[in-house]
Amino acid sequence: MLKRALVVGGGIAGTCCAIQLRKAGVEVDLVEIDPHWGVLGAGLTITGPTLRALHVVGVLDEVKALGATWTGGKVHDQQGRLITEIQVEALSPELPATGGILRPLLHKVLAERTRAVGVNVRLGTTVTEVTITDEPAEASFSDGTRGRYDLVVGADGIHSALRGMILPDAPRPTFTGQVIYRLLARRPEGFECSHFYMGRDIKIGFNPVSATHMYMFLLHPAPDKPWVDPKDQPARLHALMEGYGGIVPEVRATVLGENAASINYRPLEVMLVPRPWFRGRVVLIGDTVHATTPHLASGAGMAIEDGIVLTEELQRHPSVGEALFAFQERRYERCAGIIRNSVRLGQLEMEHGSPVEHGKLMGESLKALREPI
Ligand SMILES: Cc1cc2nc3c(=O)[nH]c(=O)nc-3n(C[C@H](O)[C@H](O)[C@H](O)COP(=O)(O)OP(=O)(O)OC[C@H]3O[C@@H](n4cnc5c(N)ncnc54)[C@H](O)[C@@H]3O)c2cc1C
Repeated sequence: MLKRALVVGGGIAGTCCAIQLRKAGVEVDLVEIDPHWGVLGAGLTITGPTLRALHVVGVLDEVKALGATWTGGKVHDQQGRLITEIQVEALSPELPATGGILRPLLHKVLAERTRAVGVNVRLGTTVTEVTITDEPAEASFSDGTRGRYDLVVGADGIHSALRGMILPDAPRPTFTGQVIYRLLARRPEGFECSHFYMGRDIKIGFNPVSATHMYMFLLHPAPDKPWVDPKDQPARLHALMEGYGGIVPEVRATVLGENAASINYRPLEVMLVPRPWFRGRVVLIGDTVHATTPHLASGAGMAIEDGIVLTEELQRHPSVGEALFAFQERRYERCAGIIRNSVRLGQLEMEHGSPVEHGKLMGESLKALREPI
């Protein structure tokens, strides 16, 4: 097993990877460019496979205590009439079936655990240069220091600077044709599972994220990649929610007032970097190499699994190069499949495609996600 590793980026992928490496006895430095180590966004759905991965990392109890868990969902038409109920089975007796958590709370759990296991966290710092050979890598940092590492893990997200250094020709993220609004709201009385409202073009969903709160998403097609001024977002969202039944009107009444500040808007982008995902002693994980849309709610799950698999392969192979190759081969098809199917689900929504095909693809994807990693 290697002695020293550097993790670049303190998001979900970076923290989980740093924790796993540290647990395996590796000395780990983690550099995060944000001096406040903050995180944007409302809630995150944590599917059964994501809960399984969080269990391996060792933070499941904290996530369960701060988040919410449940066993299924209800799909409604635009008026709020129930179309179908979805039952989700837990992957194993110690795991909840599915769940949700506020992003800042998951971040807090992972950041605290990263420090508690002894990772050396350096905030407001990044890598400016790194050598790419089969020898241990030399990294230069933005604060003028340098370091020598047996492994450098790039986990600096979809707009990764490290990716630009080692794979300058990697594809850039592409817009999928849909945009998403997200919002945080109080859970209404009796709100105990996911609820989806299916309009012709607009899909609205709600997921619990804590004992008291839920997050809403609203997904709709957009012909280009429109930028919406943050000051216009509450009024736009309010207008898009018109004409929906169920719990939508109750939440709509808060969009221009008490919940306006929680609104988060973004065009959906995907990116799959073809293999190789490593050069020399530098390997890329998480959104840095495989960023997906939220259709299967699995981007964070894939990011967590990467750190688990990478550490397992490093423990299994005496040579770092062999371990990185084995990591890439174990991860590529799983992550590519999630992206492919997420994009297709979005296309079916935009084309008003067959609900049967949509349901079948969703079922197949969720089944594949439940396979052992
Ligand atoms: C709208 C939307 C909804 C989603 N919903 C879900 C969901 O419900 N469930 C789910 O599982 N997934 C979801 N995802 C996907 C999930 O958010 C991502 O897959 C996940 O956050 C990726 O984690 P990451 O650590 O790879 O990247 P990031 O979260 O982007 O973290 C990157 C980190 O690196 C830091 N950084 C950036 N540049 C540098 C640099 N140069 N040097 C050092 N540090 C740097 C950043 O500050 C950040 O801390 C969603 C995504 C979107 C867009």
